Amino acid sequence: MVDTARLRHVRALVLDVDGVLTDGRLYYSPTGEIFQSFHVHDGQGIKMAQAAGLIVAALSARRSAAVEHRLGELGLAAIVQGRHDKSRALDELEARFGFADKELAAVGDDLGDLPVLARACFSAAVADAHPSCRAQAHYVTRCAGGRGAVREVIDLLLAAREGRDTNAP
Ligand SMILES: [Mg+2]
Repeated sequence: MVDTARLRHVRALVLDVDGVLTDGRLYYSPTGEIFQSFHVHDGQGIKMAQAAGLIVAALSARRSAAVEHRLGELGLAAIVQGRHDKSRALDELEARFGFADKELAAVGDDLGDLPVLARACFSAAVADAHPSCRAQAHYVTRCAGGRGAVREVIDLLLAAREGRDTNAP
């Protein structure tokens, strides 16, 4: 069951990138170039969330030009990369955009996300997240990372805002 009351407080959505917006795989070319894939359903969901007035930001420990490109294309409010201190980076996002933990939804898949998930009013782990992440989150998505998990969370957030049943299949 989804706690609709938590969803209704959300004003900002902070997303991990690797394993959440991607399936976590890094494809290396012989010259060391890295390729990642993003799901169009997640992209559409991010646009819907933004249209509904949600602040959507990405917070990643790694740095990737492909991530900058894709998320820039989607117009995210902030694309924060190269930050292992995610809780401090979250403090900065909150100060910059004027939201609080109690208005935050966060999606993660691994240990580095736990400090952010612990602070969020609504925390989600993707279906194939590390067990530590799944154990801590308020919600575990049906979809895997990079395969619509972010869209699933956004659908829940928007349904709760509109007063629709978030526990419908
Ligand atoms: Mg990750």
